[in-house]
Amino acid sequence: MKLSELNTGEKASIIKVKGHGGFRKRIVEMGFVKGQTIEVLLNAPLQDPVKYKVMGYEVSLRRQEAEMIEVSQPVVDIDAQAASVIEESSPYQQSDSTDASVITVALVGNPNCGKTSLFNFASGAHERVGNYSGVTVDAKEGYAEFEGYKIKLVDLPGTYSLSAYSPEELYVRRQLVDDTPDVVVNVIDSSNIERNLYLTTQLMDMHLRVVCALNMFDETEQRGDKLNIDTLSSLMGMPMVPTSFKSGRGLDELMHEVIHLFESREGHDKYYRHIHINHGHEIEDGIANIQQYLKGNDLLRLRYSTRWLALKLLENDKEAWRVADEQPEAHQIREACVLAARRVKEETGDDAETAIMDAKYGFIRGALQEAGYQMGTKEDTYKSTHWLDAIIANRWLGFPIFLLLLWLMFEVTFTLGQYPMDWIDAGVAWLGDFVTQSMSDGPLKAMLVDGVIGGVGAVIVFLPQILILYTFISFMEDSGYMARAAFIMDKLMHGMGLHGKSFIPLIMGFGCNVPAVMATRTIESRRSRLITMLVLPMMSCSARLPIYIMITGAFFATKYQSLVMISLYAIGIVLSVIVARILSTWVVKGEDTPFVMELPPYRFPTAKAIFRHTWEKGKQYLKKMGGVILVASIIVWALGYFGTMGVAPSLEQSFIGLLGKAIEPLFTLQGFDWRIDVSLLAGVGAKEIVASTMGVLYGGEYNFDPLTAYCFLLFVLIYFPCIATIVAIRHESGSWRWATFAALYTTGLAWVVSAAVYQIGNLFL
Ligand code: GDP
Ligand code: MG
Repeated sequence: MKLSELNTGEKASIIKVKGHGGFRKRIVEMGFVKGQTIEVLLNAPLQDPVKYKVMGYEVSLRRQEAEMIEVSQPVVDIDAQAASVIEESSPYQQSDSTDASVITVALVGNPNCGKTSLFNFASGAHERVGNYSGVTVDAKEGYAEFEGYKIKLVDLPGTYSLSAYSPEELYVRRQLVDDTPDVVVNVIDSSNIERNLYLTTQLMDMHLRVVCALNMFDETEQRGDKLNIDTLSSLMGMPMVPTSFKSGRGLDELMHEVIHLFESREGHDKYYRHIHINHGHEIEDGIANIQQYLKGNDLLRLRYSTRWLALKLLENDKEAWRVADEQPEAHQIREACVLAARRVKEETGDDAETAIMDAKYGFIRGALQEAGYQMGTKEDTYKSTHWLDAIIANRWLGFPIFLLLLWLMFEVTFTLGQYPMDWIDAGVAWLGDFVTQSMSDGPLKAMLVDGVIGGVGAVIVFLPQILILYTFISFMEDSGYMARAAFIMDKLMHGMGLHGKSFIPLIMGFGCNVPAVMATRTIESRRSRLITMLVLPMMSCSARLPIYIMITGAFFATKYQSLVMISLYAIGIVLSVIVARILSTWVVKGEDTPFVMELPPYRFPTAKAIFRHTWEKGKQYLKKMGGVILVASIIVWALGYFGTMGVAPSLEQSFIGLLGKAIEPLFTLQGFDWRIDVSLLAGVGAKEIVASTMGVLYGGEYNFDPLTAYCFLLFVLIYFPCIATIVAIRHESGSWRWATFAALYTTGLAWVVSAAVYQIGNLFL
């Protein structure tokens, strides 16, 4: 039967994963392998996706994907067979570190296993961390001193494996191959040890110096797990240290092992051996065959572990083939691969990739069994998670709770944020007055007061709100709620051609689009990721708020003001849905990669982590302020201050006035006059500048009607996000093409929507 046919609460054994390519590979890596027991835990509100438990992990699959998995009932207990272990020692090439007293340590592990926590504990006050939606985006570097060594720690993105499947995996892999770290610390969530060890087996193939941190040990202890760490360490050929980076326990021992490993020689230490996992006769033959060509090629031999490369070639890894195809032996290598693949198929009925994965899991099972691994029953980490999920991700309660939380988030952000906003506002005003009084008149004073203090001041006011919003988001992320939000929203997002995970960046977009664009990195499907990035500017970021407040305050009666504001946010959301649909149907082509989302157990986040994550996001905003906004404010000020004949007698005769007049004909359909046009133009730097420019140009006395005002707000909502966002899109999408596209389509759409509303509105008003 199909997995999709199981009901909530039922269990079955996995027989086979159908389909091919990315989907299949991913799903098998997640632990959907033959013989594993799978349990249906929960249905999302719209009955799609469904949450499953496999190998101690909770993941969700879309119904459509669950149809690809064949299962059988009742559950059959397969005999965990200890895979045989072949031992081999070969010379290890140490990286050419120039300074002998610096040890480069790369942190590798699954997402959410505690890498960043380790990084922070070890690097102490020197940490520079970036965590977006639980995934470390770049490699972050930090330093620690231990036993006379300086240890350079590199925090890498979380990955389940080292295939060339997602950008993160490829990135980690390249770091390991190209920047050969001296020691790799493989952080493992020991409460899900079986699946976490899968990545470890790949590190073993790569023949690196690895120390394992058995993290979350506090949780396994509480649960009463049994494991002989000593046995497991020697079976896997790497030292393993129990740790908990909630408290920092085990850090010293871990560092000690790192240094010890760095100093020792392979094969001379009980825990430092190179182990070859036996992948079965046919695969091993294939490896040997391919290796003979690889070893004859100096370029490959020196750069890669040939065994690892051979395995990757057998797995049909694109990146590995890209390298191999450039070699003179490409033809022979391909022949050897085809031969091996055919033999594997004949013997096992599987392709080589599956056979390799099966063998690795077999090895892990065997090793765990020999090390007397037994999962405890005392206190299941997931117990409270189940209980909470039954409520939070419930079919009926899920949505209401979610909406309530969103409402709470925005309510608190705006009401609580008002206080510090007022203080900062007063502070900026005081500073402006102070400078006005203490300096003599002249361009410099005008620039400082109107350009720098006025421009940057208008922006810094929003920092508290952004920080409050990001505190909420960080809390939701770190506690595990965001993963549920994505789970709840997936079906709806899917309808937009997006992914449940797109939801997090979209929410972040209400704060500032720049960190939101970066947060799209957690979306595995490049297509969904791109679309999310492209519609993000429709999320009304807080920079647009001052314009809304200023204009609604001036043009609409108090009782309608909030309605106008809400309508803007709503129109932004509706437009993003429409645009996303259009983009996913016609513009951004490509396959939709599967929806496999981990649902980590709920954890109460530490205050320190929340603070750090909030700060990381807020920093992006400050950066934008110090750079683009400062420069743009000064430019706008200068253009308004000077004209063709030196200092302009009035704004109309300044450069900015002339510019506005020149583009005025473009906006007649919207009823905008040159001053609005100038403000919009100034807002290209950053939307905050629109408000300050309007302030300068009109001095509070507007000469247009509420309809024009509303169309102006619509234009502000939709058009060109800001330079910083466009640069972020360029950076994240990898090309100017999409960044340019985002800039053009938003502006075009803004023009059309505001013109339409103005023209239609005029018929009725
Ligand atoms: P990363 O994705 O691997 O960088 O993981 P993080 O360092 O961001 O940690 C993920 C979550 O696990 C955070 O909420 C941590 O507070 C929590 N965490 C990390 N280490 C431990 C641990 O040893 N025990 C427990 N109970 N929680 C931990
Ligand atoms: Mg991290």
